[in-house]
Formats: sequence, C-alpha cells, structure tokens
Amino acid sequence: MVGAGLGGLAGALHLRSAGYEVTIIERQPGPGGRFGALEIDGFRFDVGPGGAPALRDLSAVLGVVGERLDDWAEVQVLDPVCRAHYPDGATIDVFDDPHRTAEAIAAVCGRAEARAYLRWRRWGALAGLTDPRTRRLFGAAALFGYDPIGESRCVRGGGDALARIMASVCEKHGISMWYRMRVGKWKTERDRVVAVVTDGGESVPVDAVVLPRRTVGRGPSCLMLHLGAAGSYGRIARRNVHFGRAWRRSRHELLVRGELMRDPTIAVEDSGGGAYRVAVPVPDLRLAPMDWDGIAARAYAGEIVATLEARGYLDLGMSLSVSYVVTPAHWARQGMAYGIPFGDSSHTRRHPALANVVYSGSGLQGGRRAAHWIMGSLS
Ligand SMILES: Cc1cc2nc3c(=O)[nH]c(=O)nc-3n(C[C@H](O)[C@H](O)[C@H](O)COP(=O)(O)OP(=O)(O)OC[C@H]3O[C@@H](n4cnc5c(N)ncnc54)[C@H](O)[C@@H]3O)c2cc1C
Repeated sequence: MVGAGLGGLAGALHLRSAGYEVTIIERQPGPGGRFGALEIDGFRFDVGPGGAPALRDLSAVLGVVGERLDDWAEVQVLDPVCRAHYPDGATIDVFDDPHRTAEAIAAVCGRAEARAYLRWRRWGALAGLTDPRTRRLFGAAALFGYDPIGESRCVRGGGDALARIMASVCEKHGISMWYRMRVGKWKTERDRVVAVVTDGGESVPVDAVVLPRRTVGRGPSCLMLHLGAAGSYGRIARRNVHFGRAWRRSRHELLVRGELMRDPTIAVEDSGGGAYRVAVPVPDLRLAPMDWDGIAARAYAGEIVATLEARGYLDLGMSLSVSYVVTPAHWARQGMAYGIPFGDSSHTRRHPALANVVYSGSGLQGGRRAAHWIMGSLS
C-alpha cells in the first residue's frame, strides 16, 4: 500500500481482515496525508477537512478487523456544528439536532423557512428553501468544493487524530508501517509488478500494489491561510462561514469566469489557542492557470485578512505571528490534478497495463474499493 492517507490505511485494514500481509510505505514522517495537521511556531492547524469524514464510515473500517471506534477515540459533538455570518449582521447556527437548527432559522428567516428546512432535511428538497440566507448556507458546498458545515461528530484531538488512530489499529493488527520512504520505481515481470523500489534503493517484493491516485476532483480549488493570532473573537463558533453581499456575482466570478471573488465567501475554523484556518474558494488551475507562486497569492491573502477584519475580526492582521498560505500550486505539487485538494472516492482504477496494480480513489471509500479489487485479482 503506497501512502498512509485515509485511503491507504482503510485499504490496508480491509486487506488485512482478509488475511493478506500488508506493508504501508509512506514518504512523510507520519500518517494522515491530506487529513493531517500542521504545527508552526506552537500553533496547530488541521490540513484537511478537520474532523470529518463521517464517523460511521470510520467505524465500519475499524469494524472489519473487529475494533470499535469508542475503544480508540473520544467522539465530540460540535455545538454548534457551524455558524453562518451574513453581511446584514445576522447569524444562523447549525446544530446536530435539526429542530434546534430550525429554531435558529425561524429567529432570522421566519417560521415558514424553518418548516421548509425541516422538510428539506427529511425529503431532500432544497428547492423548498426560499430565503437567500438558508439557500446560501446549505448550498455552500457547490462554492467550496466540500461542505464547509462539515460533520457534527468528530474525533477529539484534531484532524490528524483520526489518522493516528487508524495507524495504531493497523499496527495492532500486524500491518507494517514504513515512514520516510518514497516509492519511486517498480520491477515488473510480464504484466505484473513483482517488487516496488524505494528512493533509498530498497526493493520490496509484492503480490499487488495500491497507489494513491492523482485525483481529478471537481473544482473549484481553495486558498488556505493558516493564521496564528494573538486575538480571540467572541462572536465566532469553531466552524464559521462568512458570506459576502455579492453571492451571485461571486459564484459567476469563481465558477464561470475563473476569477478570484472580489467579495469572497470565507470559511474560518477556530482550532483554539489563536490558530485559525481560513479557506477561500479560488478557481482551479484548469479553469484559471494563475501564477500562485508569484506575489498575487500573498496579495490576495492580504485582501482576505482585510476582509475578515471588516467582518468582525478586529486587528487580525496586526495580531498575526504566523501566516502560512497554501495555494492551488501547493496542492498541484502534491500530485492533485489542477490543484484541487478535494477527493473523489469513486476514482479507483486499475492500471491500464499492469494486472496487479490499482490506483485508489480518495479517502476511506476509495481505499475500500481498491482493497476489494486487489482481493478479487489475487483470489
Ligand atoms: C479543506 C479540505 C476539505 C476536504 N473535504 C472533504 C470532504 O468533505 N469529503 C471528502 O471525502 N474529502 C474531503 N477532502 C479530501 C480528503 O482530505 C481526502 O479525500 C482524503 O484525506 C484523501 O485520502 P487518501 O488517502 O486517498 O489520499 P492522501 O491523503 O492524499 O494520501 C496519499 C498519501 O500517499 C503518500 N504518497 C504519495 N505518493 C507516494 C510515494 N510515491 N511513496 C510514498 N508515499 C506516497 C502521500 O504522502 C500521502 O500521505 C478535503 C480536503 C481538504 C484539503
């Protein structure tokens, strides 16, 4: 298994449960991949979705080797799950309990909208929502490429806690974990890989190989600012979405014209201790091949900080001691097609020429699919 992201870890557990000997080779010093965490000058930031994916998927993966999530992790319910901030000063909180969310909607948009929300939750008819504020909030995933509201339940301990738990379960079940090793080559015999070769020259015999796929996620991409600040802000929740005024124009700029949003919608995650992760949807590199390594990225990051100050994060810029900017160019260098970091689990594919090589789609489901394909090909 090449890579100890969630996909590699999940795939390894599925293979192990079927009795195969599994080795995970990871080029980084620890597990997690895109689901990791970043520590800079004492601030700790989630790199990926932060606490997602759905814990039922994680429980299912651990279950294949007879483990229970509760024995490994403390599960936390976010309360609220997310807070939406609108230009008119209104806020709507989303809770785990839809009836509490409906109350929050009723207070801002009226009872009819709250009832429409409950109908949407039950029957999935988003069209029933008529207030622009609820439509923006529950349609924000189309703008971000992932759902900024996120899962209500998450594993305590930050984004990478989940990967560390999975890695510990792998080790307990006899899966070998090799870190700081990059698979650079392989040896073939006829249409099969018989060994993978690390950059250090070590040759590892294999019956089959799973590789992480250069995902072709759906755009847009995102600009991520990891900010370490001295200030704290009373009006925000752990997850927040700050909407601009020009929603339609912004969507058009981003998704049709491939431009930066002039009045951006911004997601802010407060990780505690002054660490804020700010995500701003930006065009992917296919739609707009911008030079993200030039000064433009830092200039736009500065604009985002100024926008946040105008939206209530007073003196944010002045109080920053860390500002680390991740751009679509960073994602692209990590192998993500068009600089889009959001995966697609359905993209598991066989190698076109090699019978025992499979490219895993993203995340837990991608790993599961890859493992099942391998089991089929080996049996
Ligand atoms: C802000 C954000 C929000 C997201 N939201 C969602 C969401 O809502 N839902 C969702 O499903 N997904 C979401 N994602 C994507 C999610 O993070 C991925 O789906 C998931 O973590 C991918 O796991 P993976 O194991 O497939 O790939 P990765 O995490 O990319 O892992 C691949 C691993 O392979 C290693 N590797 C690669 N090549 C080699 C090599 N040659 N040798 C050794 N090691 C190698 C890498 O170092 C890496 O650790 C989001 C991502 C971000 C950044």
